Amino acid sequence: MDDLSIRIYGDPVLRKVSAPIEDITGELVDFSRRMGHFMVRSHGIGLAAPQVGKNIRVITIDLEYLERGRGVQVLINPVIKYVEGRTAMEEGCLSIPGLYWNVLRPEKVVVQALELLPNGDVREVEIEAGGLYARVILHEIDHLDGVLFVDRIPEDERRIAIAKWKRSMRSGRTS
Ligand code: ZN
Repeated sequence: MDDLSIRIYGDPVLRKVSAPIEDITGELVDFSRRMGHFMVRSHGIGLAAPQVGKNIRVITIDLEYLERGRGVQVLINPVIKYVEGRTAMEEGCLSIPGLYWNVLRPEKVVVQALELLPNGDVREVEIEAGGLYARVILHEIDHLDGVLFVDRIPEDERRIAIAKWKRSMRSGRTS
């Protein structure tokens, strides 16, 4: 069971820089588990803690969807060490439901983080990711810095995208 709910574009919690995790507590393990369940139930590939109202540096990634392993990966305090290339890919975001837009981002990324395993153990990891995996990691780390995917599209396009999204929200359509 979880009591989490998604924060939508316009909510100030999405614009704050999130704080690093200092201690791995039972509460944190429980929260990240709830995040994972919430993400999968919401059909997201990735989720960042600010999207459910907590400004802490935790992200979850659906490894099964990415065909990278089983279940949900939980990364704590992820830091980008290296990026390479540049590629456009269509992105969406649970916090801007129904909006999909092409975004330019690095093609590959190397990230260091603490990975919180399902049994509560923690290990240091260095992840080299490409394709959709890299895309999800970069999108979610942006959330930890208060950055949304629409900020990554050129300003004239962004205005069109946001206006389109606001119209669809008003008319009650989400896609
Ligand atoms: Zn997002």
